[in-house]
Amino acid sequence: MLKLPVRLPENVAGRFYVDSRCVDCEVCRDIAPDNFKRIAARRYVIVFKQPVNPEQESLCREALECCPVEAIRHEEP
Ligand code: SF4
Repeated sequence: MLKLPVRLPENVAGRFYVDSRCVDCEVCRDIAPDNFKRIAARRYVIVFKQPVNPEQESLCREALECCPVEAIRHEEP
């Protein structure tokens, strides 16, 4: 049975988040290290801080577009 991706529980509340498709590469952390961090024990990455200025917003959107497995999601408010 197909498993649907779910929002990882360690994500901070807010518009950007990582879902269970994450394959623990380094792309998003390289692009937006102020917002994404690795949970080593789980071998995935989460959003630990939502963007708080236009630069971080732009970098988070860039990370979303560059994620190789489309695991970064964004919900419009
Ligand atoms: S770019 Fe995507 S797959 Fe890679 S660590 Fe970030 S969320 Fe996970």
